[in-house]
Amino acid sequence: EPKLSGDFETLMGWADKVRRLKVRANAETPLDADTARKFGAEGIGLCRTEHMFFDPSRIGAVRQMIMSETEGGRRDALAKLLPFQRDDFVELFRIMAGLPVTIRLLDPPLHEFLPHKEEELAEVAESLGADLATMKRRAADLSEANPMLGHRGCRLAMTYPEIAEMQARAIFEAAVIVAKEAGKAPVPEIMVPLVATKKELEISHAQIDKIAQEVFAETGTTIEYMVGTMIELPRACLTADRIAETADFFSFGTNDLTQTTFGLSRDDAGKFLPLYVEKGILPKDPFVSIDVDGVGALVKIAAEKGRATRPGIKLGICGEHGGDPASIQFCETVGLDYVSCSPYRVPVARLAAAQAALASEKPAMADRTA
Ligand code: PEP
Ligand code: MG
Repeated sequence: EPKLSGDFETLMGWADKVRRLKVRANAETPLDADTARKFGAEGIGLCRTEHMFFDPSRIGAVRQMIMSETEGGRRDALAKLLPFQRDDFVELFRIMAGLPVTIRLLDPPLHEFLPHKEEELAEVAESLGADLATMKRRAADLSEANPMLGHRGCRLAMTYPEIAEMQARAIFEAAVIVAKEAGKAPVPEIMVPLVATKKELEISHAQIDKIAQEVFAETGTTIEYMVGTMIELPRACLTADRIAETADFFSFGTNDLTQTTFGLSRDDAGKFLPLYVEKGILPKDPFVSIDVDGVGALVKIAAEKGRATRPGIKLGICGEHGGDPASIQFCETVGLDYVSCSPYRVPVARLAAAQAALASEKPAMADRTA
C-alpha cells in the first residue's frame, strides 16, 4: 500500500503541469490497478490477459482449451473461462472509473500452458474424455523449438478464433455491466498482439466487431470501443501505414521489438549483454533503454507511417522502456501520446515526462530570448 507524502504530491503536481506525455500503467490485477491509480496513472496501457489464466481455479480449463483437438471441446472450456474473464474486466473497469483501459488479447508463449507432468496430462485427458496417449501426442504436436517466435499472439486468433471471441465477449459484457452501474461508461481499447501483417489485424478486428454487435443486441446497450495493435515486430513498423488503415491505436511493444530487431532472445540476453556494455559494443542494455539507432528508428518510421494514414492515431509504448527516463525522452521527441509502465514506475515516468517536455522546449525558449 503506497503512502504518499504531501511533498511528493507537490513535486508530482509541478511535473504534471509541464509534461505533455500521458502516463499509464501496465496492470492486470485489481491490486496493480489500485496502486497505479494511487501513483497517478491516467489509465491502463497494457493488461496482459494471459497472466489472468494461471490461477489454480482456471488453469485446468485453460489446458483443456489448448489441448482439445475439436472446436466443440475448446468452446466447452472457453464457456468455463468466460465468467472469470468477465469478472476480471468488471473489476478493472470499476477501479479505473472511466479512464482508458487497454486490454490485450491472449499472447501466451504456448508452452507455459501445456501440461507437462503426468498428473496434469491425466487431468486434461479426463476433462476431454481422451486417453493419455492421445494427450501426449497432442502436447508433443503443440510444443515448439522456439516458442517466443512461434504460435503466439494474434497467430492464436488465426488458428483458434473462438479464444479471441470469448475474450471480446468478456470485455463487452463487462463494459455493459459497468456502464449500467456507473455514470461514466468504460471505453475499452482492445489490443491485438504480435501483428506482422495488415490481414492479421483485419481478421482480428472483424472477430471483435462481430462479438460487439452480438453483445450490444443481447443487452440492448451500445458501448464505444477502440481496436488497435501492438507494434512489436520490424515488419509491422515498416508496413504501419497499411496496418493503420484498420487500427485506432498503436502501442509499441519494445520488449519484443528489441528481441526481433537484434535477433536476440529477451530471456537469455542478460547472460552476456553486461559484457557487451562493458566492452563498449553497445552503449546501454537495449532491453532497458531504447536503442535509438535500431529500435528507435523503427518506432519513428512506424509513428510517421501510422500518422500519414490516420493523422490522429493514438500512439503509446508499453514495453519495459516505458518506465525508463532516457527512453521516455525519446518518446517525447517522437511525439507519442503516452507511456505505460509498471505501477511503481509511474512517479518516475511523470517526472521524466516533465523533464522531456522541458528539454524539447529549450530551443523554442532560446528563440524567444534571441
Ligand atoms: C512487449 O513486447 O514489449 C510487450 C509489452 O509485450 P510482452 O512483454 O508481454 O511481450
Ligand atoms: Mg510483446
